[in-house]
Amino acid sequence: MEFSDRVLKCIDCGAEFVFTAGEQLFFYDKQFKNDPKHCKQCKAKRASGSRVRTETRTSCSQCGEETTVPFKPTQGRPVLCRSCFQKQLGQPKPAPDPKSPVIKSPVINAPEINAPEIKAGETETPHTKTPDQEASAIATDPEAIAEPR
Ligand SMILES: [Zn+2]
Ligand SMILES: [Zn+2]
Repeated sequence: MEFSDRVLKCIDCGAEFVFTAGEQLFFYDKQFKNDPKHCKQCKAKRASGSRVRTETRTSCSQCGEETTVPFKPTQGRPVLCRSCFQKQLGQPKPAPDPKSPVIKSPVINAPEINAPEIKAGETETPHTKTPDQEASAIATDPEAIAEPR
């Protein structure tokens, strides 16, 4: 198949640009049916403006309305349109009421519950520590500090 350069008009800016034989061969190779519609400048602009542009047309699994998603929907996974997606986001987590006071969990205010467990673990292996490490462990132990020497 022979190709020769063709001059096309950019649909964006109206500038004429060359659709080279090499590009035509590339398009033929890739089985692209349509001629390029944008000049190189506009193509570059579009590419940099929206780097990830994989809008896929699909129908919402919730309301059935046709929508576009910015990713390739996986087979079997539900695809939601924007409004249904927003609705679902709002459902499990309703807007928090600023008037309702935050109920503090008593567990948060009782760190002593976990403290004896940590100490027990530390005293279990005192012989594996060097004197230096043991000394620093005692120094950071609040009970060891409180003890009269
Ligand atoms: Zn252009
Ligand atoms: Zn929907």
